[in-house]
Amino acid sequence: MNEEEKEVLHPTIANRDVTLHILKAFGLHTSKKLGQNFLIDKNIVDGIVAAAGVQPGDRVLEIGPGIGTLTQGLAEAGAEVTAVELDKKLPAVLAETLKGYDNVRIVPGDILKVNIPEIMGPGPFKVAANLPYYITTPILMALLEQHLPITQLVTMVQKEVADRMVAQPGSKIYGALSVAVQYYTEPEIVLDVPPRSFIPAPEVMSVVIACKVRETPAVVVRDEKTFFRVVKAAFGQRRKTLANALKGGGFPKEQVRDALEHASIDPTRRGETLSLEEFGRLSDAFC
Ligand code: SAM
Repeated sequence: MNEEEKEVLHPTIANRDVTLHILKAFGLHTSKKLGQNFLIDKNIVDGIVAAAGVQPGDRVLEIGPGIGTLTQGLAEAGAEVTAVELDKKLPAVLAETLKGYDNVRIVPGDILKVNIPEIMGPGPFKVAANLPYYITTPILMALLEQHLPITQLVTMVQKEVADRMVAQPGSKIYGALSVAVQYYTEPEIVLDVPPRSFIPAPEVMSVVIACKVRETPAVVVRDEKTFFRVVKAAFGQRRKTLANALKGGGFPKEQVRDALEHASIDPTRRGETLSLEEFGRLSDAFC
């Protein structure tokens, strides 16, 4: 099939006119509540597919396929796509827009509730998404905390969220999200995406961020639960000293004093100045 024939059979969905046509043909109205901002720029779709390094046969989990815009790019690159969509109206639409792509499987449901190991089966997979912005952080945390065999996670997020994901110690926006993302992955912002790349245009700037999942976390800790409890407490009250923030987070006074001393960390420092390695040392001192 040449490009022209392909365009007739499978018009590129990442296009303003095609997207408007699909919305009209199916009587769809984008839902703000579900974070529906559909991509209309083929270059961005190609950028996500390239950043995920999708090769023919790769298994890819897509979150929120919408009308199939990114799904089509992934399918064209030869991925075996499993796409989870919450909007009950969309599976019927996707059956039409992605007709003929036998490497796509749509799973209706909420990504925060579906059993991912069950739908993905054994073996490594990649994640690609243009995430609904109202639940970006819960989705990222759920994917990372489950220790799923994800190798690469490439997603569109609000620029402000991506900046927090890559923030370094000492920065005002360095926080629990930065530590968690960098603990599990090596994040890198790969594309800036303006509002005009979507229908409807969001009020914020977006970026594509590629998170290469580490084979072992950035720091090896005795107990991951304690590590994240310490991180949460340290950033829970950012203006307080580390010692007071930890106490405020429920750690007993004596334990806080001993742990900080044992880890050789100045109790008057603030949580936002600690590196991942220091958080690891401090967390181990509590175990
Ligand atoms: N992938 C499409 C694109 O790039 O044009 C649509 C992206 S749109 C930003 C987000 C999609 O996620 C919507 O289709 C929305 O219905 C879906 N969605 C929202 N919440 C979801 C959830 N909890 N689980 C799965 N999909 C969800």
